[in-house]
Amino acid sequence: MANKLIYFFGKSKTDGSGDMKSLLGGKGANLAQMTKIGLPVPSGFTITTEVCVNYYKNGRKYPAELSSELEKAVKWLEKETGKKFGDVKNPLLVSVRSGARDSMPGMMDTILNLGLNDAATEGLAAATKNPRFAWDSYRRFIQMYGDVVMGIQKKNENDHEPFEEVMDGLKRDVKVKEDTDLTAEHLQELVKRYKKLIKEWTGKAFPNEPMKQLEGAVQAVFGSWMNERAILYRQKYRIPDEWGTAVNIQSMVFGNMGEDCATGVAFTRDPANGENVFYGEYLVNAQGEDVVAGVRTPLKISDMAKDKILGPAYKELVDVRKILERNFGDVQDFEFTIENKTLYMLQTRNGKRTALAYVKIAHDMVKEKLMTPEHAIKSGDPEALNQLLQPIFDIKAYDKAKKDGRLMAVGLPAGPGAASGAVVFTAGKAEELAAKGQNVVLARIETSPEDLRGMIAADGILTARGGVSSHAALVARQMGKVCVAGAGDIEIDYHKGVLKCKGVTLKEGDSISINGTTGEVFHGKIDTADSELKQVLVGKTLKPKDSKVFQYYDFIMKLADKYRTLGLRTNADQPDQVLNAVAFGAEGIGLCRTEHMFFEGDRIIAVRQMILAKSEDARKSALAKLLPYQQKDFEGIFRALDGLPACVRLLDPPLHEFLPQSDNKKGQEEVAKQLGTTVAEVAKMVNELHEFNPMLGFRGCRLGIIRPEITEMQARAIFQAAVTVLKEGTKVKPEVMVPLVGFKRELDLQVEIVHRVAAEVMKAAGKKFAYSVGTMIEVPRGAITADEIAESAEFFSFGTNDLTQTALGMSRDDSGSFLPAYQGLDIIKANPFASIDRGGVGQLMKIGVEKGRSTRSDLKIGICGEHGGDPNSVEFCHMIGLNYVSCSPFRVPIARLAAAQAALRHPANAPSAKVVKDTKGAKGATKSKTVSKR
Ligand code: PEP
Ligand code: MG
Repeated sequence: MANKLIYFFGKSKTDGSGDMKSLLGGKGANLAQMTKIGLPVPSGFTITTEVCVNYYKNGRKYPAELSSELEKAVKWLEKETGKKFGDVKNPLLVSVRSGARDSMPGMMDTILNLGLNDAATEGLAAATKNPRFAWDSYRRFIQMYGDVVMGIQKKNENDHEPFEEVMDGLKRDVKVKEDTDLTAEHLQELVKRYKKLIKEWTGKAFPNEPMKQLEGAVQAVFGSWMNERAILYRQKYRIPDEWGTAVNIQSMVFGNMGEDCATGVAFTRDPANGENVFYGEYLVNAQGEDVVAGVRTPLKISDMAKDKILGPAYKELVDVRKILERNFGDVQDFEFTIENKTLYMLQTRNGKRTALAYVKIAHDMVKEKLMTPEHAIKSGDPEALNQLLQPIFDIKAYDKAKKDGRLMAVGLPAGPGAASGAVVFTAGKAEELAAKGQNVVLARIETSPEDLRGMIAADGILTARGGVSSHAALVARQMGKVCVAGAGDIEIDYHKGVLKCKGVTLKEGDSISINGTTGEVFHGKIDTADSELKQVLVGKTLKPKDSKVFQYYDFIMKLADKYRTLGLRTNADQPDQVLNAVAFGAEGIGLCRTEHMFFEGDRIIAVRQMILAKSEDARKSALAKLLPYQQKDFEGIFRALDGLPACVRLLDPPLHEFLPQSDNKKGQEEVAKQLGTTVAEVAKMVNELHEFNPMLGFRGCRLGIIRPEITEMQARAIFQAAVTVLKEGTKVKPEVMVPLVGFKRELDLQVEIVHRVAAEVMKAAGKKFAYSVGTMIEVPRGAITADEIAESAEFFSFGTNDLTQTALGMSRDDSGSFLPAYQGLDIIKANPFASIDRGGVGQLMKIGVEKGRSTRSDLKIGICGEHGGDPNSVEFCHMIGLNYVSCSPFRVPIARLAAAQAALRHPANAPSAKVVKDTKGAKGATKSKTVSKR
């Protein structure tokens, strides 16, 4: 390898620094940085991540020169510490630890006390005047090395650890109970038995030669990059396999040599609530792993101030706390050891924190000028902001429910928060009980738009089937409802009105509690409370000035707005959803699903009349009944938007979704009564409308093309509402969106109707208004022919729910049965319905953007699929030059932060300035593009 393989950190020289994480790993870079700024770090060196990458590229072989470089590095370390590898007087011992670019706690291997052999152990005993300590260190080293490097591990779950078994045998032989009762002589005997075990298991002797030990350990750490645990962790946190790990070799210090020694971990601030307090714990006379393993109860770090022996080291730690924050510009989570009263720093990294701690720390540290505003944005986990919105289980009641064994099942955490109430199985019952003031959880095998009323009324939604972009999940997110989807262990019997799981049977009305953050389902009641942020922004029951949490959150959001270049819209179809979204920062509606409005109140009767109409006239008369309802809905939405744009989608779902199906005879009877016809007639129509694959059937623009009077009614409702609200003095910006377009001609046929109706409404009202007509890009043909479609479309919005299912040929509702296995087999990395499949669907989007703008350079392009609220997808949308993302109201803060992070990561990809940004009544909005060019 041409590049430098090893970087040193120590008194005499330090090659690396904190900004070299990709080459030295997080741990290596920060050890170098701490050394540079004069903190007491035991000297050592780091083998770069490039060596690891090279090792895997060459079939698990080191670069030829590594061996000699390693030898030179050890010589340097011997000089640096004044100790020698394998010395009988003062042996050099080292730790060997992994260290990837991002920390992967506990996923890879670590070896301590390397360098010990029989002679060195005598040396350590002499140097420390503590033979027991020396032999205990030696036996720990052999145990760790035997396990990690030589592979001596139990073969299956029920076996004992081989080394533990040998230890237990010795304890029996010498008749002692505790490890701590073993004397130096006993431990010497244990070392012999351990070596015998190694020989028996591997046929090889334990390596006595420290350089050989080191080579083996380095190889094992590189090897652990590809162990199952590490691979899984990387999948979950999207850490690329290609990064590789560095290996840190550092001279050992001991926290377990007596009462003037200690070891501990600390945070520079409280990672749970963000308070500016020194937070951590330590153990006197212990090794680092004892703190983590929880064998002994550690003391609070502040207790060390009063310790007579360790008091001075505590004072140093207090200084270190300040120095770390000043230098690293963030909260640090660090490990330290005190050896004979001397403090040593073993590692530091940015501390992981809750969402509450994140907003508070970022707010405080930016104000204290300790953190840069850019880092305040970059260091947040957008997804975690959800934590600030969730109603929460009362913690005591939650713990008790778990203790009492009331957990029944675990499904997909589809809508975060906690809900507890009476379980019901129908939308009607949910409404009925909610109207009486009861808390309700609606449990369905799966949901459809028909359940919407019930979903609105319910506090929580539980389904036995369906994935993250199933109807239940997307509606739950849009409404900010608590939802557990796809809890497969649950059986729901609608006829008997019961829900069964693991021997527990709940009847309608029995209490159930669901945790949409974790996916847990409990039987029985668990008390809940609203989050502070919701009280300020949604309920308006708390004033901003009275909520610190709100102030911290608001600070971060306003900071995010400074950096983001993507616009932010919301998927909403009711005025209250709009108000919520705007309170969270939305700048308009990106998707108003008009079909949701069809289910409210009595209007479903007119919808059914329209569907079942035998003639065009009958259909028109049913539509005429619907028109005032839709118009009123749009008026409410335009008022709530107060001048922000509203992208309204024409009717999209297959019509059968509005009718009770053949398994719902009662429903059909009701419809027959409502419409003055026979049940047989209704059943016949339902049969006729039955489709084998409705998702690819008579839906989307196909509806409006075959039944143009539907489009006509909807366009009229939109424009008449616009006129009414305009006349009240409120600006309106309607955008009419045609779904599921794959052919330019499809769009043309719909655009023609919309323009005609707009002109008619303007003429009748004597008032002009601005509007635009565009399309969803949600089938591959639409993306591929985007240049043609853009001739007729004034804007695009990617419907990535459908685009994913049509591009991948995977049903968004049925893919749950194989997607988890696909992830396990590494066919796909993440659920493509939750996070954009960049390589496939993403490429179609890119083609859509490029081709669309090749025809119309100022084409406004957004996304309104569920991916619009997923941070990773938001980043992708920024990268391909979209103008805005649209997501459910309660995900707006997440998208807001993710968009800012994307802008900081990819500054060159900001969207073109040609496209007018979404603002209230933006200049020219009512003038430009008034009546469009036909
Ligand atoms: C989509 O397909 O991405 C979309 C937003 O439409 P729907 O989810 O309503 O099909
Ligand atoms: Mg769609």
